[in-house]
Amino acid sequence: MKKLLREDFKLEPASCFVDATCPRYKAVIPAEEDLAPLLPYLNAVARVVFFDPEEPVLVFKFEGRKVAVRRDDVRISDVRDIEEGKILREKVAQFLEKIWEQREEIAPRHEPRTLPPALTIYRYLPKTNCGQCGEATCLAFASKLSTGEADLTACRPLFEEEAFSSAREELQKLLG
Ligand code: SF4
Repeated sequence: MKKLLREDFKLEPASCFVDATCPRYKAVIPAEEDLAPLLPYLNAVARVVFFDPEEPVLVFKFEGRKVAVRRDDVRISDVRDIEEGKILREKVAQFLEKIWEQREEIAPRHEPRTLPPALTIYRYLPKTNCGQCGEATCLAFASKLSTGEADLTACRPLFEEEAFSSAREELQKLLG
């Protein structure tokens, strides 16, 4: 299988809002070659948060982290240390290489993508602030959905209560 990413990578500091004594990093992995041709296929199959085909840059969610793919590198957010970086580098490389291998079976998506703003999402949520999603309010959950940090399925009432079925369908369309 063709290698898309180099083995070597570096960690760059990322701001930590929770505990300054426990910093997190982003892993910056150089590409072996231009990754731009991969992006429309990635846009078709990954959990995409953002895609700008002009730049070009695509951001997708992978195992709870954000991964940004540009022409010449891949950046993985929220990495603890070099050991975790190595494991994530390997997993992301395998994921990208598999998509590239299977590209003839994938219908590429060339159009830009972005997640809808929190208030648009909020309109369709149950607005009961029940907390089952792990957030204190539906608005807080909507904010996380709008940045790709939450998964819609965490809102159990939306999936379990018939009264919310049409709102759920709208949200699934909005969030892709
Ligand atoms: S689980 Fe759904 S209804 Fe409950 S607070 Fe979260 S978003 Fe709101």
